[in-house]
Amino acid sequence: MILIVDDKPENIFSLKTILELHSFPTDTALSGEEALKKILRHSYALIILDVQMPGMDGFEVAEAISGSSKARDIPIIFLSAANTDKKFITKGYSSGGMDYITKPIDPDILLLKVKTFYRLYEQNSELNRIHASLRSEIEFRKKVEGELQEALGKKDEFISIASHELKTPLTTIKAYVQLLDRAIGEDDPTRMYVERTLVQVRKLDNLIVDLLDLSKIESGKLKFNKKVFNFGSTLSSAIEMIRQTYPEYRVVLKGSADVQLNGDEMRIEQVLINYLTNAVKYSPDNKEIQIETKIENDQRLCVRVRDFGIGIQKDHQSNIFHKFYRVEEAANRFQGLGIGLYICAEIIRRHEGAYGVESEPGQGSVFYFSIPVANGRALQTVNEQIKK
Ligand code: ADP
Repeated sequence: MILIVDDKPENIFSLKTILELHSFPTDTALSGEEALKKILRHSYALIILDVQMPGMDGFEVAEAISGSSKARDIPIIFLSAANTDKKFITKGYSSGGMDYITKPIDPDILLLKVKTFYRLYEQNSELNRIHASLRSEIEFRKKVEGELQEALGKKDEFISIASHELKTPLTTIKAYVQLLDRAIGEDDPTRMYVERTLVQVRKLDNLIVDLLDLSKIESGKLKFNKKVFNFGSTLSSAIEMIRQTYPEYRVVLKGSADVQLNGDEMRIEQVLINYLTNAVKYSPDNKEIQIETKIENDQRLCVRVRDFGIGIQKDHQSNIFHKFYRVEEAANRFQGLGIGLYICAEIIRRHEGAYGVESEPGQGSVFYFSIPVANGRALQTVNEQIKK
């Protein structure tokens, strides 16, 4: 709406007629004081303001408007006598759009200016609308993000408490089933059930251990007991464990693993077992697993676990080391929580190592990690000193 301010009703009438003929809605005020009251109550797209009025003149009205945060951006067209100094017109009104028209008014010029200001007003309103909706979108996202963080922090605490509580009774169950396993004879018909129970108890035990590790990582309490050890024997024990648990799989070792590492042996073995167990789990139709080891420039040990299973599509490969990430298509077929690789990544990172995957869907995958080897010469010196 356009506000026309003039003390002469006949001027108001002619301006109102011109504007309404061109479909501009109008409102009117017969004095500066009345105009100010209306401006505070309503919102206008443009003010046409007569300069010479008894009481408050047009400049005083404009100055008052410039002090109002609600109204200072409304553009003003001053109606002034022909000899009014332009500099005087700009006085006191620096923000918002401003123009002037000399009397007697040329209707074409007036319409041209009104149209320009009106278009500006509409564009500004649209921009403000977009701005407001973007701001509320940002606010909404922030709120959801906050709630999600909060929920996850709940979740973490729950995982920590629940896994601790589950661990104790499960340890007792495991001990009793192991006793039962030893107590019953080879030919006992119940033996098969005891063995199956033991397999499931071990699976549950592994899940709880993973959950405990996860909560330790989250709270920064995953501790490492680092010392120098021979990787060859660690690898042999991991392979032995896989061969015993999955006798139908053929595990082939390529390369030498006789190298000293400085790290937490149990945690490194955990990474190996995790890679190998995944290789078994995600290769139901091809039962060969290859382990390739290489010592690069006497500096780094590189271990690659290759399977010929279902493989992983490219777009999932960078995510599978993230917490709880599982490839959706495989998630229905294979049970899991999606935390094994996350724990492996943390263990390798904490050994200044690197990790990754290469895979082709339907062809298989290679999961690898590399970590620095222990400084052989320094170790030799230490050993010699101990002997002395
Ligand atoms: P989980 O096996 O419990 O889901 P992991 O963290 O060990 O959790 O693995 C995350 C995901 O990575 C798996 O859900 C699976 O989609 C994918 N994955 C891991 N290892 C392999 C593999 N050898 N072959 C194909 N997909 C794999």
